[in-house]
Amino acid sequence: MNTDTTTDITFDIQKIRADFPILETKVHNNKTLVYLDNAATSQKPKSVLDALQSYYTTQNANIHRGAHFMASKSTQDYENTRLTVKNFLNAKHTEEIIFTRGVTEAINLVAQTWGRQNLQKGDEILLSTMEHHSNIVPWQLIAEEKGAVIKVIPINDNGEILLDEYEKLLSPKTKLLTICHVSNALGTINPLEKMIPLAKKFGTTIFVDGAQASVHLTIDVQKLDADFYAFSGHKVYAPTGIGILYGKMDILEKMPPYHGGGEMIKDVSFEKSTYNVVPHKFEAGTPNIADAIALKNALDYLQNFDKNALHAHEQALLQYATQEMQKIEGLKIIGQAKEKISVISFVVEGVHHSDIGTLLDMEGVAIRTGHHCTQPLHKRLGLDGSARISFALYNTLEEIDIFINALKKAIKMLL
Ligand code: PLP
Repeated sequence: MNTDTTTDITFDIQKIRADFPILETKVHNNKTLVYLDNAATSQKPKSVLDALQSYYTTQNANIHRGAHFMASKSTQDYENTRLTVKNFLNAKHTEEIIFTRGVTEAINLVAQTWGRQNLQKGDEILLSTMEHHSNIVPWQLIAEEKGAVIKVIPINDNGEILLDEYEKLLSPKTKLLTICHVSNALGTINPLEKMIPLAKKFGTTIFVDGAQASVHLTIDVQKLDADFYAFSGHKVYAPTGIGILYGKMDILEKMPPYHGGGEMIKDVSFEKSTYNVVPHKFEAGTPNIADAIALKNALDYLQNFDKNALHAHEQALLQYATQEMQKIEGLKIIGQAKEKISVISFVVEGVHHSDIGTLLDMEGVAIRTGHHCTQPLHKRLGLDGSARISFALYNTLEEIDIFINALKKAIKMLL
């Protein structure tokens, strides 16, 4: 928890909303935007927008090895974000933080480097039914190449991992457990504090997809004992195109590079090149400097809130919306885990989810419909898709009322 003296204990929602200029936007026939698509991407506070503007108007320069003022300032700011992320995740070393484009790139990086180096024929990769496609397909690519096998941890109808079944799947063949901390479609918070120690008994390497967790939970990679942890900036109020891969130092040091190019090398000759130290070994080419710098502003913004107040606010939104939605005839909530973040996927009997999305949009309510990049999960639940609302710290109970009224109106029109 941040001990900054400016910590906002009172959680003044109107003050918070004023930090996000986009929330004033009018859509379709002058309707005020009700943005409930935060699990896909969150909106950005002014401090993040200002950081981008300021970077390009006052200090734009390529980083590392620059012999001038702006290059040094940009390098310093870029590296300062790395330090902020280290603290955000409670990593042991700043060098364990690698900049990527997002979780997708982080997973591909580990699959193509650690995976290629460590996976052999017959090795098993364990993942869960509720994984996002980006935590399935990169492993399928490397598994196919190496002859490794993908095993799937089943879930119950509430959308929770079946821990007994999980335990049965673990064996010395389990080379990797790769799992989402929080499901983007169900909102389920997975019991990693139970799952990781069980896998560690078999020497299994652990990758945690933190895409949905990082904005809602306090992350402590040392306490979790995760070998890798990834999150995307755009889901924690930072810009798109910047993300983080955390890896334990001893593992990162042994991994081969991912992309080749400038910055990731120590010495280059036509005969042979040698590689830079971690983390630079994994950051080939000119990185996304501006967005990396703005990521610090986003994390500072998020960490300025009292964690308990933030959690209580988001849980109140989740509970109120759940309660009001359950009153709607024919509506079924997908994912009723005991431990859940503020995401609600749902279907309505006799109504197609995409039609609901279209009609809500006409009322200014932005939601997401489809399979949410979790086709295997939807198949397990016997669905081809669902509608999803997801809350951020700036959402209000009044917005839920607008959503519920719009939803009722839509259902009436569609039935
Ligand atoms: N994993 C989960 C659980 C997600 O929700 C997402 C994005 O929605 C991703 C991975 C992929 O993140 P990105 O598209 O930012 O790389």
